[in-house]
Amino acid sequence: MTDCIFCKIINGEIPSKKVYENDFVFAFDDINPKAKVHTLVVPKVHVESLNELEDEKIMAEILKGVKEVAKIKGVKSYRLQVNTGKAEGQEVMHLHFHVLSNTVERKEN
Ligand code: 5GP
Ligand code: ZN
Repeated sequence: MTDCIFCKIINGEIPSKKVYENDFVFAFDDINPKAKVHTLVVPKVHVESLNELEDEKIMAEILKGVKEVAKIKGVKSYRLQVNTGKAEGQEVMHLHFHVLSNTVERKEN
């Protein structure tokens, strides 16, 4: 998607603080963090929201990506937020899982 901010972050057109990446997902720190750890996990394919996600492989990979992010950030306790649809606060129309935590157990390098 040419005018999608998160597609541009994934392909490097827009810089971001990358946390984790594999063939299916990309994770980067939120530009406007609402907790000590606030990382977004997104599928590399452009999917508008959870409502449009059909591919079960991608569903699984997103959750695996979330767990990788938690490990990398040193948090065992965290919460997920997935705003789905503009009426419930989704501003960027590329599916993303917010990983949020204020209980960081170890400092990042
Ligand atoms: P939403 O409200 O759609 O669930 O969340 C979108 C999130 O994307 C917000 O928390 C916002 O701060 C973040 N965001 C928007 N634009 C950018 C950007 O260009 N870079 C990064 N790293 N985060 C962004
Ligand atoms: Zn996109």
